[in-house]
Amino acid sequence: MQYISTRNDKINLTAAQTIIKGIADDGGLFVPKNIPQINDAFLCGLQPLSYQERAGKILSLYLTDYSPEEIKNCVSNAYGKQFDHNAIAPIVKISDSQYLLELWHGPTSAFKDMALQLLPRLLITARKKSSEKKDIVILVATSGDTGKAALEGFRDIPHTKIIVFYPGSGVSAIQRRQMITQKGSNVDVIAIDGNFDDAQSGVKNIFNDKNFNTTLNNNGYELSSANSINWGRLLPQIVYYFSAYCDMVNNKAIVCGDKINCTVPTGNFGDILAGYYAKRMGLPINKLICASNSNNVLTEFFQTGVYDKNRPFIKTISPSMDILISSNLERLLYHVTKNAAKITNWMNELNLSGHYQIDKFLLTKLQQSFAADWIDETATASAIKNLYTTCHYVADPHTAVAWQTAQNYREKTADTTPMLILSTASPYKFNDSVLSALNVKITSNNDFQLLDVLKKYNTAPIPIGLTSLKTAPILHKNICKTEKMSAEIKNYLKI
Ligand SMILES: *Cc1c(COP(=O)(O)O)cnc(C)c1O
Repeated sequence: MQYISTRNDKINLTAAQTIIKGIADDGGLFVPKNIPQINDAFLCGLQPLSYQERAGKILSLYLTDYSPEEIKNCVSNAYGKQFDHNAIAPIVKISDSQYLLELWHGPTSAFKDMALQLLPRLLITARKKSSEKKDIVILVATSGDTGKAALEGFRDIPHTKIIVFYPGSGVSAIQRRQMITQKGSNVDVIAIDGNFDDAQSGVKNIFNDKNFNTTLNNNGYELSSANSINWGRLLPQIVYYFSAYCDMVNNKAIVCGDKINCTVPTGNFGDILAGYYAKRMGLPINKLICASNSNNVLTEFFQTGVYDKNRPFIKTISPSMDILISSNLERLLYHVTKNAAKITNWMNELNLSGHYQIDKFLLTKLQQSFAADWIDETATASAIKNLYTTCHYVADPHTAVAWQTAQNYREKTADTTPMLILSTASPYKFNDSVLSALNVKITSNNDFQLLDVLKKYNTAPIPIGLTSLKTAPILHKNICKTEKMSAEIKNYLKI
């Protein structure tokens, strides 16, 4: 398996090189040159297997330079006891021919764990294979969920260090507590005297600072990133589409070979793109339905062919979908055009003017695989309430956006193909919004008390990772000004 850049298909890297490098020098994203194909025997063969075994089979189609033992080790360490469900990513029937896929049973109760538990293992295995023997320093700027999931993924992984910057005012009380109580011998967590954009531009400046990078290199360190443009973060997500399909067969919701639809709550376009890879590999997916909140840039794109980020940024109760530049869309555009020059032009246009437009022919092609729709804040709250009333299921706001979008799609199109709806966060991470949507009077602003209030409505237990926060010791008290971020890094690395 060879990997190329979406902006230059002449380069040729192995999976290990791709995962270490993260982003191509030309600014493009790495993609597999050809998408591997499966047949019916392969798909049927997955059905009796565990999640870990299914993952091993699918990953080995892409990680052809990793040995079967290496893949097995990575997978069994990534999807082990840190998940609170044996199925790792279980499906739940909510109504006739509709299933939720719960992706939040990992250590931080967010779907980011599915990828961030595996990425560090893939990365460190890649490092062993390469002649490059520097220790890897992961820098993360986070608005909440990604930072914690990355910390949990990288903690105590040999030859790595992880440093996370979060906005001192701008994360929820639970998110802050999740970060400042982080354990691990190789982790550092620092609050920034500023907002998320300050943290993010600070980290970007450090990545681009040649002198700083040379200093790190001379001291045996190399910077890397855990954000969702790394192929090693996308790849693990392909697995759960296959796994959910097998579970739907095992549940007799479908017979093997039947088509399903998938609705995905979308931000950076990583999760849904993994579904597109699964479809292109041969998994019987009919439509991928891209669900957005009020930041509906992708809905417009799939309906009109115009991508336009020049619009107000709206803060919603589904914050992980508050995104106006969905980076992974670039990968989709490459796979449907196979034209690196075209991609380069569109991305330059996006950079310069904030928008680009694809042609009619290509739009029609995309619409064969994708549908897209969005709902606003009021509809999101109603969806939480309706899902609870009709299906006795307590959903977080992101999952609720997907559920409602799936219902609207079925109504508008009369397409009754069995539906898989991806559920991306535990409702216990969003107590405040969920309780308000359920019309419960909130008398406390203490997030830990709200956990117990929500428990009265939800049959699912409060995740251990959240209850243990109440008593976990605080380990990270550093606060720094944005201009002092590189000094903090040097200080932590003792260089
Ligand atoms: C990250 C995230 C999403 C969006 O996933 P993308 O891969 O960025 O499209 C949706 N829901 C939750 C809870 C998330 O954390």
